[in-house]
Amino acid sequence: MIKKIAVLAGDGIGPEIMAEAIKVLNDLNSQMNLALEFENGLIGGAAYDEYGSPFPQQTIDLVKKSDAILLGAVGGKKWEVLDISVRPEKGLLRLRSTLGLFSNLRPAILYPQLADASSLKPELVSGLDLMIVRELTGGIYFGQPRGIRILENGERQGFNTAVYSESEIRRIGRSAFQIAQKRNKKLCSVDKANVLECTELWRTVMDEISVDYPDVQLSHMYVDNAAMQLVRAPKQFDVIVTSNLFGDVLSDAAAMLTGSIGMLPSASLDANGKGMYEPIHGSAPDIAGKGIANPLATILSAAMMLRYTFNLGEAAERIEKAVNDALDANVRTADIFSEGMTKVSTSEMGDAVVSALQNGAVV
Ligand code: NAD
Repeated sequence: MIKKIAVLAGDGIGPEIMAEAIKVLNDLNSQMNLALEFENGLIGGAAYDEYGSPFPQQTIDLVKKSDAILLGAVGGKKWEVLDISVRPEKGLLRLRSTLGLFSNLRPAILYPQLADASSLKPELVSGLDLMIVRELTGGIYFGQPRGIRILENGERQGFNTAVYSESEIRRIGRSAFQIAQKRNKKLCSVDKANVLECTELWRTVMDEISVDYPDVQLSHMYVDNAAMQLVRAPKQFDVIVTSNLFGDVLSDAAAMLTGSIGMLPSASLDANGKGMYEPIHGSAPDIAGKGIANPLATILSAAMMLRYTFNLGEAAERIEKAVNDALDANVRTADIFSEGMTKVSTSEMGDAVVSALQNGAVV
């Protein structure tokens, strides 16, 4: 069956890094007959310039009829003067809410070849490969009531509501268990069940649904301990599932364990596995157009798309291995360059990955 992919390159370095991901996917497509079909669309500043909206109707129609969305990055100085409602970043938020993408997957992977880039000791992080699954559309960020009110004594008071319904917890829990099944089958649910009733229910529901996934080993951890463990011994984790607020903080901390923003992919999924895949970095206006951006986060986002939306685990592994082989061959873009390595451009890095895909080696 044809697999329809909407390609939204976006702004800044978006088009440069996307070109490399498509190059890699095209090569794999012809080698493995994956029936991938691409259609380009505009988002962010590029869409505003063309249609006066960062998420125009043409793009809405495109993403709705597609099975997956591959996105570069949005934003840039040029559009910062616009009203907030039409800024590039709004396009991304609207895309996520239009498609109901509630499960945010943020891997933290540290290739042994880049272990020196981390601020932690290489032996603690070398080979790190963990996944944080963050609930993206509920919790305290959206709970009502919320606001700032004046108390009887005239003092101002800020307040928010942490709320999760059983169905919301079940939905993100199932998504996380299924992801753990595709990895090392260990799931750690992070909460603050000793203090917050909302997360006490979270823990109970996670236990309830665990019976449907007997092959996955479920554990629980309080968020303060999880923060400590992430910087003490991050390799103990396989998959972490947590709420919107805790996931926001923990996923950024985990990403920074790796020290290289140009290497990290991400995904946001709906209940049926349809997803949007994008690098965690932004549009990097400071290096846009110079041909030096690292395309590996986008290439690895494409690998995630094959695994999580299309269930093509073997194809995903081939891309991940090719990235590893390219690093083994000592080719590096400027952001991950170190003494003794060969500095390459964005497209040369893409070529190195394609070469590894074709020959099992970088030539
Ligand atoms: P950024 O991630 O774009 O850049 C931060 C730093 O990392 C810069 O020095 C940049 O050159 C470098 N960098 C990022 N990606 C790189 C890559 N692939 N290769 C090499 N170096 C890379 O963050 P920023 O500078 O804070 O934001 C720039 C613009 O991107 C803003 O308009 C912001 O709103 C937008 N943004 C978009 C997204 C997104 O599209 N999901 C995410 C974050 C920021």
